Amino acid sequence: MSLYAKPMARLVEELAKLPGIGPKTAQRLAFHIISGSMGSARNLANAIVGAKEKIIYCSICSNLTEEDPCLLCSSGTRDQGMICVVEEPKDVIALERTREFKGLYHVLHGAISPLDGIGPGDIRVKELLERLRDDTVQEVILATDPNVEGEATAMYLARLLKPLGVKVTRMAHGMPVGGDLEYVDEVTLAKALEGRREM
Ligand SMILES: [Zn+2]
Repeated sequence: MSLYAKPMARLVEELAKLPGIGPKTAQRLAFHIISGSMGSARNLANAIVGAKEKIIYCSICSNLTEEDPCLLCSSGTRDQGMICVVEEPKDVIALERTREFKGLYHVLHGAISPLDGIGPGDIRVKELLERLRDDTVQEVILATDPNVEGEATAMYLARLLKPLGVKVTRMAHGMPVGGDLEYVDEVTLAKALEGRREM
């Protein structure tokens, strides 16, 4: 028998499905929601459903957006000749925080990982190639994570892109190996971008 009333058990169960939320935290959040006002609970529920309904993938860069193309792709002030390739939308946010990069992005939504059965066809490689069809893009910066999967993805992409005549660079190390771009501080990230090397 559950220790909670049924609706409470359901709330705890749903919250515990979120990444980084264990049963204890789920319980704490559930109690917080229940002890708050009906208005706060509605705001939270509406924000979740609203975001899920309105957020789409940009048809150019595959980043999350409300409008298509996204604000970065449709901005007239970004350098159209540079594409920075990242694994996840949160990496775009991390790089934008550095204010160092003025080009465009491409979000792969994952990394190649044969052990997990994730191949090039499972991430947005085809869409990247599509963007290199005309000669607008001069440089592709591979900013996948500095771990095994990220390196494998960078190697794969470098081999694929170089014959197209585009300059392919990789973010400098100096970032913690085995790390996640999202957790690298802004200064280190800016330096890594500045010190990128050609592949
Ligand atoms: Zn876009």
